[in-house]
Amino acid sequence: MMEQVMRNFFLYMGKNRVATKVAKRYGMRFGASRFVAGASLDSSVHAIKKLNQKGLSVTIDHLGEFVDNAAEADEMTKHCIEAIERIAKENLDSQLSLKLTSMGLDIDYDMTVKNMRRILKSADQHDVFVTIDMEDFERCDKTIEIFTELKKEFENIGTVLQAYLYRVADDVANLNDLSPNLRLVKGAYKESPKVAFPDKKDVDENFKKIIRMHLLNGNYTAIATHDDQIIEYTKELVKEYNIPRSQFEFQMLYGICVDRQEALLKDGYKMRVYVPYGKDWYGYFMRRLAERPANVAFVLKGMMK
Ligand code: FAD
Repeated sequence: MMEQVMRNFFLYMGKNRVATKVAKRYGMRFGASRFVAGASLDSSVHAIKKLNQKGLSVTIDHLGEFVDNAAEADEMTKHCIEAIERIAKENLDSQLSLKLTSMGLDIDYDMTVKNMRRILKSADQHDVFVTIDMEDFERCDKTIEIFTELKKEFENIGTVLQAYLYRVADDVANLNDLSPNLRLVKGAYKESPKVAFPDKKDVDENFKKIIRMHLLNGNYTAIATHDDQIIEYTKELVKEYNIPRSQFEFQMLYGICVDRQEALLKDGYKMRVYVPYGKDWYGYFMRRLAERPANVAFVLKGMMK
């Protein structure tokens, strides 16, 4: 009960535009650096190199939410292109993740597609894979629509589907004709029980269902979770159906279950770490706190400093 209240509180705070802007101005606080590699591209490159040296692959994400004007969306687009060029120049084992709201989704659909084409052209040229993160339910249809349109033009693009949504198995089935590279996750936003399973047990079952569907459809699948039970389920499934290790990978977030990341790598699985960076750390940080109230201890420690 208390856990649910705290979860709702942090998810609510994560959507607060004023707090987001204030946090951006004052820099990283409250132990957020445990989950965010730093404010600059340089700091993320530093983090990527350290992870790559261990054999871990990466996807970087330049944090940015609630972009509400065209100039800011253009700036975010340029940041993504700069990151792609840097990945190529430094020969890093890294992909790029981004959110469509950063590219202008809440302002103008066509502008967002245009910005995405600029990014994907650069990604194509430099052979860098781009994943469109999935945001809240309100943006789900548009995200899938834009992904579908761009996937017909560009090879190096994937997106994310969330197991907590009732609709997700239909999305997996409907996208199958595109043979998409999908990252499958539980889902990180506060959604109404009208659209998403409120009960964790149902989410976990649905997660297993879509992992099975997408893998058995023969598509590349990123299983993005820290949940041991889901990881073990995937290991058993791939063993049972002789699915090659080249058809899937595990993904986890920077700073979370680091030992588990290294253990999977040691067992010969491909392991990718999601490395966020940038000044807009607040919404991302709030979602990580919501996932695990025990993380609040880090906030309290951070406040004492
Ligand atoms: P849970 O059942 O939440 O957690 C299982 C265990 O993992 C916990 O018991 C705990 O030990 C550990 N754990 C989980 N979260 C934390 C935490 N924050 N801090 C410390 N320990 C933790 N969601 C989206 O909605 N859209 C996206 O595009 C998206 N992209 C993602 C990309 C990656 C690479 C990953 C790993 C997650 C992404 N998520 C995304 C978040 C995801 O939806 C979940 O909110 C998050 O992964 C927590 O769920 P879980 O599967 O780890 O399982």
